[in-house]
Amino acid sequence: MIGLAGLAAAAICAGIIWQLSKAERFQLFGRLIYTVETTKPVVALTFDDGPSRKYTPQVLDVLRQHDVKATFFVNGDPASGASQVMSQIVADGHELGNHAYTHDRLIFVSPDRVRLHLMHTDQVIRAAGHSGDIHFRPPYGAKLFSLPWVLSQQGRLTVTWDVAPEEGAGSTAAEIAANAVQSAQPGSIILLHPHWRGNDQTRQALPAIIEGLREKGFEPVPLRDLLEMQGQ
Ligand SMILES: [Zn+2]
Repeated sequence: MIGLAGLAAAAICAGIIWQLSKAERFQLFGRLIYTVETTKPVVALTFDDGPSRKYTPQVLDVLRQHDVKATFFVNGDPASGASQVMSQIVADGHELGNHAYTHDRLIFVSPDRVRLHLMHTDQVIRAAGHSGDIHFRPPYGAKLFSLPWVLSQQGRLTVTWDVAPEEGAGSTAAEIAANAVQSAQPGSIILLHPHWRGNDQTRQALPAIIEGLREKGFEPVPLRDLLEMQGQ
């Protein structure tokens, strides 16, 4: 008999594991950053998921018009079907990051499965012309044992965020932009999802986010540049 105390302990353990899996600022192994320690007024715009052949070019247009470089954490599966868009992201001077092959939660999966997600997505990113490190962002920010373990073995950096302006369902473009600009601090990593059909409010918010950040005296830079300003 497990008994009531045993069941309660199991429930507490499950609760702890669940909280641990979705912690944005902590993982069990390897290096994770959610912001960069700097006094310089710089932030990174990071775009998750996709890319999409239809909507990502609109994002690239806005970035080009505002002369902003950003970081795209792509899923290998849609990326492999959008090679022109992928090459354009790199040609425009943006940075690519790995967001796993599909958008499954990588918890309770084997290390081998994690390695395949990383490897197949890296291949698509390299084929697009990306050089230099490829950082990783977990789908849903979810990680538990095997994912951080493999990442640490590969010496790979996990990047989450400290500003998620789309949080709160039904956010309008104006609300998303205001959230992003108000929450941004020196070294902030801002999370946005601009790639799919349902993300039109985020796409509409993007010019106001860039303009608002600049009015506040902040310049958006790719993650690779932000990381170099660590401690400065
Ligand atoms: Zn995602």
